[in-house]
Amino acid sequence: MNIRPQTPAKRTVLVAGGAGFIGSHLCEALLERGERVICLDSFLTGREENILPLCNFRDFRMLRADVRVPVALRERIDRIYNLASPASPPHYQADPVHTMLTNVEGTARLLNLAQDNGARFLQASTSEVYGDPEIHPQNEDYPGRVSCTGPRACYDEGKRAAEALCFDYARSGLDMRVARIFNTYGPRMRPDDGRVVSNFLVQALNEQDITIYGKGEQTRSFCYVSDLVAGLIALMEVPTAPNSAINLGNPEEITILELARQVQALVPGNTRVVFRPLPEDDPRRRRPDISRARDLLHWAPQIALDRGLPETAAWFASAAASTLPPPRTTTPLSRAQS
Ligand code: NAD
Ligand code: UDP
Repeated sequence: MNIRPQTPAKRTVLVAGGAGFIGSHLCEALLERGERVICLDSFLTGREENILPLCNFRDFRMLRADVRVPVALRERIDRIYNLASPASPPHYQADPVHTMLTNVEGTARLLNLAQDNGARFLQASTSEVYGDPEIHPQNEDYPGRVSCTGPRACYDEGKRAAEALCFDYARSGLDMRVARIFNTYGPRMRPDDGRVVSNFLVQALNEQDITIYGKGEQTRSFCYVSDLVAGLIALMEVPTAPNSAINLGNPEEITILELARQVQALVPGNTRVVFRPLPEDDPRRRRPDISRARDLLHWAPQIALDRGLPETAAWFASAAASTLPPPRTTTPLSRAQS
């Protein structure tokens, strides 16, 4: 008898927010794994350039749509990654109601779609659910210290509500996973994104002042995008859904002042560091405890900042990024220092 080896069936994966920074890397990684990918995006902060190379894959399809609006899909969906939400403070604060509703209504719509399709669902949540934390590093059991009235609330509370919805659906049987993503950086961030790594690199490359908000004593822990994408896929594919959210991030913590110094050292030129007022509710310290991701997913970041930062600088210096506007900064200049 001639038994032909079975090829595993190709999965159909919906990536909401797939034209964004992380989403486009995720779509690419999924295509490389042999999945069929539908990228759903409204292009609010996503860009066609991010997904243009993916259009060469026969298994890639783009769907321009808003997650808040129901979509009719021809095919059965096996996996849904929900990354649809503006993520940088200036962008998510530009239309706070849209941000909140994208995270609440949009997530509810996608959870329904997952339920109707019997699909597995992964929510891209955030370290912002911990707010300005009192414990350090942050583990998944920490309930957070979040302002529900400040300028970051549309995002932080939108993501918290989205997590609550996800766990409600899980309790009624949906196979669901929540990734709490810590600060991620890398190629394909928008030069006008407004987050710190892209701002500092674009400023240094254009020989503009590097804008530090506050004294630069606040800390963040930066994860390179390929590490994060590997973590997202590992979480989606782990056979049994963890019974809690999972932190994904790089525990390598640095101050924002130190980040500025590293950028100055990396990019030759005469850039100065200038200090601007600290935005309201800006978290003082942030570092993930990734014990759970290590244990359950056997995942840990591989790319340290001293490798990821030059890669990202090289990308920003390339033609790919040069057609876009300069960085967006949030606050007026207060005092300057070289
Ligand atoms: P991004 O802004 O580059 O990507 C977000 C994508 O969502 C964009 O393509 C945007 O057009 C799309 N989008 C926004 N609103 C939409 C809507 N209503 N309907 C359809 N599409 C919509 O940001 P990113 O950094 O790639 O973040 C991706 C996800 O990861 C977000 O959900 C964000 O909250 C989460 N996250 C990111 C970080 C980080 O450091 N990059 C940290 C924590 C969480
Ligand atoms: N930040 C800064 N200069 C900038 C942009 C950001 O000093 O040009 C600071 C910001 O105040 C925050 C940190 O860098 O303390 C990280 O900011 P980002 O917007 O990247 O992410 P988040 O605050 O959401 O962690």
